[in-house]
Amino acid sequence: MEYLQACPLCGCSQFTHHLTTSDHFLSGENFTVVKCMECSLLFTNPRPLNPDRYYESKNYLSHTGNQSGLLPRVYRIIRKYNLKRKYRLLEKFRKPARILDIGCGTGEFLAMGQSRGWSVAGLEPNQAARNYATSVNSLDVCDLDAIDSFPQASFQVITLWHVLEHMPRPLQSMEMITKLLAPDGLLVVAVPNADSYDAQHYKAYWAAWDLPRHLLHFTPVTLRCLLEKSGFTIVATSHLLPDAYYISLLSSSYQAGKKQFLRATWHGYRSNHLAAKHTGNYSSIIFLAEREKS
Ligand SMILES: [Zn+2]
Repeated sequence: MEYLQACPLCGCSQFTHHLTTSDHFLSGENFTVVKCMECSLLFTNPRPLNPDRYYESKNYLSHTGNQSGLLPRVYRIIRKYNLKRKYRLLEKFRKPARILDIGCGTGEFLAMGQSRGWSVAGLEPNQAARNYATSVNSLDVCDLDAIDSFPQASFQVITLWHVLEHMPRPLQSMEMITKLLAPDGLLVVAVPNADSYDAQHYKAYWAAWDLPRHLLHFTPVTLRCLLEKSGFTIVATSHLLPDAYYISLLSSSYQAGKKQFLRATWHGYRSNHLAAKHTGNYSSIIFLAEREKS
């Protein structure tokens, strides 16, 4: 385990204990989240030295096939809805152009982009997911190291859908991303929101802590701080309604040992329509940002 002496966002060395909970998804091991006393960033500390051990590749592909049954079918319908909503959102700001999806998984987002006239590229560290993207979705997807091979300022849009929370050095990653983005480009970042109703309700069982895979746990305040420190201005914020239901369902299964559909639906509804509607604290948040004009 590696113990961080300094906050990955502001460098402050004073933290308070936020929570300790287990890796409900895979290992069952316990991990701790601390809160920076200066900038309020929540981060996993200590973090594993060999993070790959906590990623199980077959789970990446479990939802992508054509399994029959109600749940896989519902999952595919929701995924399609989410993908369409993502494009409707970013096409409000940019016409189809060259787009890079970092952490593109099996490539469904890019495949839809291609069908809407976008010129697409993807980066994905997981080999099984990358192979699927290349062979089944016929996409040009590379490992993360390939980030250096793209020419500077060569993308009009760069997207990070639930990826930033996995990055060990967020400021350095943002620096690399900034170089690849055209000066008038659009950056789209989505992360789970540790200030959401579902995070507060499920506490240690909140599925989006996802320890130790998630190293950073953002709130609207700390995500804004990272983007502004990296030279960006936020131009819009958004969310996807199914996230609260999905996270509540997963959290309820960690808490009760089985999926509680009715309860999870109720808490998903509360998160979206009774809480976030007034506070903006949706289960996950999407920020659209542009380079700050100097
Ligand atoms: Zn800090």
